[in-house]
Amino acid sequence: MAIEIKPIIAKSEPNNPLLIAGPCSAESKEQLFETARLLSETKLIKLFRCGIWKPRSSPNSFEGLGDCVLSWLKEIENQYVLTPCIEIATPQHVEKAYQNGITHYWVGARTSVNPFAVQELAQACKGLDVAVMLKNPVSPDLPLWYGNFERFAKVGIKRMAAIYRGFSTAEKHQVYRYDPLWQLLIEFKQHYREIPVFCDPSHIAGKRRYVHEIAQKALFLNVDGLMVETHANPAAALSDRMQQLSVPDFEQMVHKLIIPTQKQITGSVLEKYREDIDVIDNHLFELLSKRFEISQQIAEFKKENEIPILQIDRWKQICEKRLSQAKELGIDAEFAADFLKLLHEWSIKKQEKVMVGNE
Ligand code: PEP
Ligand code: MN
Repeated sequence: MAIEIKPIIAKSEPNNPLLIAGPCSAESKEQLFETARLLSETKLIKLFRCGIWKPRSSPNSFEGLGDCVLSWLKEIENQYVLTPCIEIATPQHVEKAYQNGITHYWVGARTSVNPFAVQELAQACKGLDVAVMLKNPVSPDLPLWYGNFERFAKVGIKRMAAIYRGFSTAEKHQVYRYDPLWQLLIEFKQHYREIPVFCDPSHIAGKRRYVHEIAQKALFLNVDGLMVETHANPAAALSDRMQQLSVPDFEQMVHKLIIPTQKQITGSVLEKYREDIDVIDNHLFELLSKRFEISQQIAEFKKENEIPILQIDRWKQICEKRLSQAKELGIDAEFAADFLKLLHEWSIKKQEKVMVGNE
């Protein structure tokens, strides 16, 4: 489904990524105003984020201050010229926020997994002049995320953006709190070219020392903005304490970031490199096709002679030979190993088909 999209907020510098910052949670009037004041002084951000109703794992954790924050955010908007944005998870949240003049929302990663909840939120937003950012679901399920955009599009919401915040996976011992699975960001951008994507490096990181490298990686993947958890005094934060940046750290990080811009590239040096790559890819694919033809002949031979497909000694030999060649040629060892595994896996699949008579 093609989706009509409008910017979530008017931007003055179209080439710069949109920066959203603010605390994980609103914890007190002082904390909220102090964070907003410091952030407004940096002149870097347009949108000020904070959670009011917090989706916590344990009901014994700090669950946000709730409704009272809405009027504070309105004051902040007037005083510091920052547009507030908050997480919505129920139709009542939308109703209360809108009544208080808060019009920029995001749907959190835990709500995003539930089509009933998202449908109710979309229904609650119907007919309202609001902007909605949709975080990816905690599980790496892109169609579920796509469906969420469709739900809001169907009720007429045009000001939408995606927030990429990483995924829960079975992978243990990972460095970051959530797995970035960057390939999924690329797939999302391919699927919905029209939807701006912001990255939330804070939740991917889980620890402040990783926020910069994740933000940088996301910018290299051409995201349209960043949402960064920023707190006046991170050490005292009541939620996500380890990942929030102080305002000076946020400012320093932003100035350190390399911000690539989309320049006119036709007729450029890049164009020539792309032609070279196309020629090489063309050769690669022709060679792969020949390789699969030979796998087919090998399979026919194995079938006739009733030999098993897997020949572990031969496979070991191939790996050793190619991995040492990769080393000589300066090809990354991990890439070479992954590539060989993929080739072998598909060669076996091809041979299986011949063996059972499907080819
Ligand atoms: C948040 O932004 O504070 C939050 C709870 O994020 P997520 O839904 O991505 O976990
Ligand atoms: Mn948080």
